[in-house]
Amino acid sequence: MTAFGYARWAALATALVNTEPGRRHPDLLTAPADLAALLRAHDEPEPVDPDGTDLRDAREARKAFSEIFDAAPTEAALATKLNALLARSARPRLVTHAGVPLHLHVDAPGSSWGGWLAASGAMGLALLVAEHGADVLGRCAAPDCRDALVRTGGGPARRFCSATCASRVRVAAHRAAARAQGRGGNPAAE
Ligand SMILES: [Zn+2]
Repeated sequence: MTAFGYARWAALATALVNTEPGRRHPDLLTAPADLAALLRAHDEPEPVDPDGTDLRDAREARKAFSEIFDAAPTEAALATKLNALLARSARPRLVTHAGVPLHLHVDAPGSSWGGWLAASGAMGLALLVAEHGADVLGRCAAPDCRDALVRTGGGPARRFCSATCASRVRVAAHRAAARAQGRGGNPAAE
């Protein structure tokens, strides 16, 4: 497993945003079981036992993360949103448990799962932005998707969240061009 540490926190924050209802799916975070599934899908060790309070706080964190992705890549707006979330959720400290070496906890002691998501996700996204720049965070360019995405690979900035979205948009563009030709339009003039 390579994704422990802040990359995993950032991935969780991104996945949390993408549970928001959109044109392609309903709200995917409406029950504590949905939150448990999200946490387990990101290798959160047991016990994973969220309740209604955790769900409420996770939905609040989702809204904050969504606004952060919307603010990117404008540096000032992104920093303002991220700093506000860090200020109200994060309290980084070194922790030791029996048999576990010193490690970093980012949330305040006694936080709910949602509070943990807010703090760890905010720290994960902040470290990503500090390392890669403000356009490391973005949204899928497919108008019917708009999922949050993280661009850490090299090469040109990724526009789509997935190959599925990229090919769907490409096919739609081809069809539109073909329709324009069928009507006797001249796509070359567009
Ligand atoms: Zn997409």
